[in-house]
Amino acid sequence: MITRHDNLFVITGGSRGIGAEVARIAARDYPVVILYKEDTTAAQRLIADIRTAGGQAWAIAADVGDEAALCGAFAQIEQIGSIAVLVNNAGITGGMSRVENVQGEVIMDVLRTNVMGAFIAAREAVRRMSTKRGGAGGAIINVSSGASVLGAPNTWTHYAASKGALDTLTIGLSKEVAQEGIRVNAVRPGVIDTDLHHLRSQASLENIVKAIPVGRMGTTQEVANAIVWLASPAASYVNGCLMDVSGGL
Ligand code: NAP
Repeated sequence: MITRHDNLFVITGGSRGIGAEVARIAARDYPVVILYKEDTTAAQRLIADIRTAGGQAWAIAADVGDEAALCGAFAQIEQIGSIAVLVNNAGITGGMSRVENVQGEVIMDVLRTNVMGAFIAAREAVRRMSTKRGGAGGAIINVSSGASVLGAPNTWTHYAASKGALDTLTIGLSKEVAQEGIRVNAVRPGVIDTDLHHLRSQASLENIVKAIPVGRMGTTQEVANAIVWLASPAASYVNGCLMDVSGGL
């Protein structure tokens, strides 16, 4: 007989970086489903690691910027069980550009992945979690960025703007579904040591680090711990919060 799980912890962009770390930590307490775009090797390695450590995990390839593919992934998740937590983590920067040079296609690509993807995933999760629709409630955590406040001038204002939209989604949705058993929060990481910064030179990274009050980049664990806490019953009265995990930046 196939066991259905009633407390799935779903993470978009879970194959690498912050999302993979969230999966590793969450897997101590929940069965975990990661969605990823293309790095099947990284996704399968993570699933194997979690299973070796005694956890339960599944990986589904789905581009969050493709509504049909994302809905297909939620249909597959339904076969595994019911969602307790959604982490909208998948995100891209679109590369570096001043606003005077940015291309429309880049803006659309970033908005499609970072904003539309999060909206559609949240919609699919709410449809399944809302107590108004017979669900058991749950938590949604959006992975925004400190860039939404700082604006990321000369680098990726297009990306920062997409994270501003994610902050607003967090505030609006948190109020919309608060009485349907769903808490919605965001974390806003500062500069975290992942592949996202592969385009930056060592010198530019060192300059950025100088501006961080605690004097260093953050780790994926430091962000993941905040996300898993926001998902937990320990955060039962935290709703609509935009939590900076940025070393004070
Ligand atoms: P990362 O190391 O580049 O990992 C990105 C993850 O997102 C990968 O798992 C990737 O999957 C997935 N992904 C990208 N586009 C996708 C799509 N269209 N559909 C599904 N999955 C997709 O990035 P990260 O640094 O961990 O960033 C994770 C989140 O934190 C992002 O939202 C980012 O904006 C935010 N953030 C990061 C920092 C930072 O300093 N690193 C700071 C603030 C906010 P594949 O492996 O298949 O490509």
